[in-house]
Amino acid sequence: MNDARGGKPPLETTILWIAPPLAFTLAGKHVYISRTLFERLPSDDATAFVLAHEAAHHDLGHLDLYSAWANWLPRSDATGYLAALLGVMEHHRYGPEREAAADDYAVDLVLKAGFNGQLAVQALAILENLALDRGDVSGVFGPENLLDPTDPARNSAAYHVQRWVWTHMHGYLPLHERAANARKRVRDWKVQGVVM
Ligand SMILES: [Zn+2]
Repeated sequence: MNDARGGKPPLETTILWIAPPLAFTLAGKHVYISRTLFERLPSDDATAFVLAHEAAHHDLGHLDLYSAWANWLPRSDATGYLAALLGVMEHHRYGPEREAAADDYAVDLVLKAGFNGQLAVQALAILENLALDRGDVSGVFGPENLLDPTDPARNSAAYHVQRWVWTHMHGYLPLHERAANARKRVRDWKVQGVVM
């Protein structure tokens, strides 16, 4: 998949033996995925999507924001050290706009690399299931008060302000929307007749 990234410095994937099912990246050349997430991904295509999302943060320059503090971190790839870093990473937010851009980039990258787009974006459905397993209903569907599609206030300024606040506090769009957006982007590629 590095080949599809247009000559950017290659990234390497490291599997971490840690409990939380997650993937993340840091300034440098490594993308990290936990064994627990890796095991839940049903196909190479879905795994590729998760890694491509992290590669996107490199390729779209999102890590530049953090390069200043990343320079303060010890230069070590030891798993124990990385596990200790997770506390920091949990509060490490790119923001919903950058996360949405990373999802779009990931779809493009996996398709360019020859993976099956529909299988790839199932990764987001897996993340939805993992979130629901831990009871994070709003992480999947968004905040409860914004869920009712018949709510007449849906197009009001208040709705949009609440949605903005929620997505910026979470750092992501609700997973359900991320999955729908990714599926749409895969369909749009097909419509345009791009070779998959
Ligand atoms: Zn991300």
